Amino acid sequence: MDQSGQGGRDQLARTVDELVDANHILFRRGVVDAFGHVSARHPGRPDRFLLARSMAPALVRAADILEFYLDGGPIAADAPRPYLERFIHGEIYRLRADVSAVVHSHAEALIPFGAAAETRLRPIWHMCGFLGEGAPVFEIRDHAGEASDLLIRDRALGAALARALGAAGIVLMRGHGATLVGSSLRQAVYRAVYAEAGARIQAETHRLGTPIFLTPAEALAAARANDGQIDRAWDLWLAQTRPKGDGEPT
Ligand code: MN
Repeated sequence: MDQSGQGGRDQLARTVDELVDANHILFRRGVVDAFGHVSARHPGRPDRFLLARSMAPALVRAADILEFYLDGGPIAADAPRPYLERFIHGEIYRLRADVSAVVHSHAEALIPFGAAAETRLRPIWHMCGFLGEGAPVFEIRDHAGEASDLLIRDRALGAALARALGAAGIVLMRGHGATLVGSSLRQAVYRAVYAEAGARIQAETHRLGTPIFLTPAEALAAARANDGQIDRAWDLWLAQTRPKGDGEPT
């Protein structure tokens, strides 16, 4: 793509706008609160990504979106304070060429599945087919010892998390949260919303009896079917963040 042309600038502006919308949707759907963040790979420069400055996602505006190198360094010399855990994003983009968006959250329903050693988060509902054969869990003690603050503070920890993610759509982070990826911002947001809902349903099912999970083939088929419906969810969720149609999240 011609980066200096109008087309490139338009595409970047559209990605920034969609990233602002993603921030607001994730808050409105209860995936993020004061904490958590969402990024997009730069549409014309795959060696860069876009992420807000350090702030609550619900308050993000286009002017708050910063551009980063994959090593987590901001492009602008005078950039405001970035998220501490930006290394999550850069190292996943480095390892996964197929990934165009990353969501990191502390969504409460996912925490038990990163903490219960015997129980994996698995697809129990067709909306969660992307969970495949189960969500991998990142154990930070394997990389940062017994006394870390659980945060992904540097590139080495970001790279270890990216390796734990592997080819999956989600990686749970023991004692911390989860990171989800997508081939688009909309797919990453969709997965973040339904992973949280699927975790609640799976926990409820364990209380009733032995869960019957989707087979791997069912999970794959369901994920494919749902990928064709993501825009429908996005349009609804976006409308819910703009109840007055004035572009201001409430
Ligand atoms: Mn975090």
